[in-house]
Amino acid sequence: MASSHDLPLPGDEPAATGLVWLLGTHPLTRQALARLAWLVPAYAFSCAVLGMASWMGLMPAWKIILLATGSFSGLAVFYVLMRSGWSLRRQEPTLAFARVLFSIGCVALAYALLEPARGLALQYLCIILVFDMNRLTTRQVRMAAIAAPLLIVATLLLTWRLGLATVDVDTEVVNLGMAAVMVPVLLIVSGTARRVRRQMLETRAELAQALERTQALAIRDGLTSLYNRRHLQQRLGEELLRQRRNHRPFCVGLLDIDHFKQINDRHGHATGDTVLREVARLLPPLLPPTAVLARWGGEEFLLLLPDTTLAPAHGVLQRLHQAMAQSDWHALANGLQAVTFSAGLCQSVPTDEIHRTLERVDQALYEAKATGRDRTVAKEPA
Ligand code: GH3
Ligand code: MG
Ligand code: MG
Repeated sequence: MASSHDLPLPGDEPAATGLVWLLGTHPLTRQALARLAWLVPAYAFSCAVLGMASWMGLMPAWKIILLATGSFSGLAVFYVLMRSGWSLRRQEPTLAFARVLFSIGCVALAYALLEPARGLALQYLCIILVFDMNRLTTRQVRMAAIAAPLLIVATLLLTWRLGLATVDVDTEVVNLGMAAVMVPVLLIVSGTARRVRRQMLETRAELAQALERTQALAIRDGLTSLYNRRHLQQRLGEELLRQRRNHRPFCVGLLDIDHFKQINDRHGHATGDTVLREVARLLPPLLPPTAVLARWGGEEFLLLLPDTTLAPAHGVLQRLHQAMAQSDWHALANGLQAVTFSAGLCQSVPTDEIHRTLERVDQALYEAKATGRDRTVAKEPA
């Protein structure tokens, strides 16, 4: 059997074997790699702009090469971690928090090394914090917000001490002061957006559950919880189409409780209801797994037996009669005598519409009633 590892993503084309090799087949791995792929053009574009600035003599080429090497090596490490399946063992397979910290590190290095582009580096910081906000916990967002200025200042001091960067204290105070205002505002705004999104997702999940419950209820009978008439009518139609396609036989049985009116009259309507519920509890476990039993109306039940010919279907009905005979009806109501049913049984004919089959089943049931009740009359296909 295929595991979820092997399941193709919706929209996958067989021709995309190169993509399969690159992204793997696991949906979560592909999702994580797709997220990572967003960073490639962003980094490439930044490097191109900085390369141009270097070409124009605004900054030394070695700084750009150092930055590009650092950032693309980081991306390569993330790719390996995700593609190998290692990240699937983590709670958050897109490794959002690690990616955010790494990106902040890149921004810190860019900020320190590229004196003329320090404003640009801070703008990048904002983009990074917003990009993965939805995937981070509130604690991780706070940690990223604290890590960002600390990393920037630490990298700046380190590169300055190593003589790799220059620092103009007044400009840095203004730059980092602006960042100190900008970052918290940004976090508050996107935090609100995150909460709204989460609420929206929760509401959507609740609605989906409610819809599922309503759909499940819509096909059930309120008293017995068996399938209702409408559902079985639909199933019968489907089964007939299947039979016409595959030439697989199916049988239909109509079960009617004997002298049910007397049960109501002697023991009350509530006991009548209890008997209906008891029949609905007793019979289904005795049916083949593919069988469908529905309350057809009143004290009548319709049984669909897919992939079954008349003789085995008759055997199933005999088992049901036996179970009814062996049940302790007295326990339901004082003085309640054995409850029995009569049934008509037919095998469907592909050329017959469902209503024709039901008419034949009804005639068979009539015969079962007329010949003494507590029995099944099976009618051969005409
Ligand atoms: P037969 O053996 O010929 O089938 O006789 P019967 O008394 O079972 O059949 P009849 O059609 O005369 O009576 C069926 C009764 O079932 C009449 C109706 O009041 C009762 N009934 C229908 N639906 C319900 C229900 O949901 N609960 C209860 N308690 N009785 C119901
Ligand atoms: Mg009846
Ligand atoms: Mg009856």
